Amino acid sequence: MGEFDLIKRFFTRPTTRAALGVGDDCALLVPQPGMQLAISSDMLVEGRHFFPDVNPRTLGHKALAVNLSDLAACGARPLAFTLALALPAADEAWLAPFSQGLLAMADTHGCELIGGDTTRGPLNICITVFGEVAPGQALLRSGACAGDDIYVSGNLGEARLALEHRLGHLRLDDATLTRCAARMDSPNPRIALGLALRGIATSAADISDGLLGDLGHILERSGTGATLNTALAGELMPNAPASLVSTLSFVLSGGDDYELVFTASPGSRAAVEDAAQKSGTAVARIGVIDAAPGLRLRDAGGALVPNTYTSFDHFAP
Ligand code: ADP
Ligand code: MG
Repeated sequence: MGEFDLIKRFFTRPTTRAALGVGDDCALLVPQPGMQLAISSDMLVEGRHFFPDVNPRTLGHKALAVNLSDLAACGARPLAFTLALALPAADEAWLAPFSQGLLAMADTHGCELIGGDTTRGPLNICITVFGEVAPGQALLRSGACAGDDIYVSGNLGEARLALEHRLGHLRLDDATLTRCAARMDSPNPRIALGLALRGIATSAADISDGLLGDLGHILERSGTGATLNTALAGELMPNAPASLVSTLSFVLSGGDDYELVFTASPGSRAAVEDAAQKSGTAVARIGVIDAAPGLRLRDAGGALVPNTYTSFDHFAP
């Protein structure tokens, strides 16, 4: 199977939302008049983001899901994506499930594959997603104000639990492993919540590197600080194994969660609840934005908890 055969068989689909898809030198996208394009890229590298023996179907799902998560954080509606793929070999037994997982996720969110690049090399997947959002409606990292509530969607820390199990650092029972592995391998981007939060959230980010790190980006861009209630944050991992001593560390800095962290004014609590309901996504209020810079952790009694948690950084010394 040659390069163009491979593209035709596994990555060429009719497009309805683009004026031109796979097969020419460029694809042509047609944003609705007056809408802004939201664009984001994420790369997945073997050995860095996934194990060499990862299931190709879930890898296809996850490669697009982590990109869609950025559109969710922005409150953008998915339109299309491109796929740049380096493959060690044109292996049908790998390409078929990979493309199925990828295109199923694409269908779920109405996001069409419109182009890409294919080359031989160590397995590497780079996706660029395109979404649309009305001017002034995008959720940014920079809008948090002192006094705003801080919210998180879903649960945190379970993907990290699965990772630690696979690395042999701890042992999960079968039921817990199944649940956590699904979180690690097949995250579901919070597109519906992101869309529902437009006009309500003052800032948002998706949680890929860990809650504290990604909230830290909001604080930096907004020029604010924050205080988190560790008791409330602890509740974000309701089914933690009893043997786990570091529940809070996995919640605060586990990574690979693909949930949203966002802020909204206390006057918007009913609207946030409504957005959560409408989008079928649980949200929890876990802290408050402060005028004073820095991130403080307090327990249920209000006592300061030392912040020794670090989020993931590819180039941390
Ligand atoms: P060019 O040589 O102009 O860069 P290519 O020959 O690499 O174009 O690709 C041919 C067509 O196939 C283009 O439309 C390109 O967008 C598309 N394409 C290449 N690789 C992929 C892929 N992995 N997924 C989807 N489309 C792809
Ligand atoms: Mg090319």
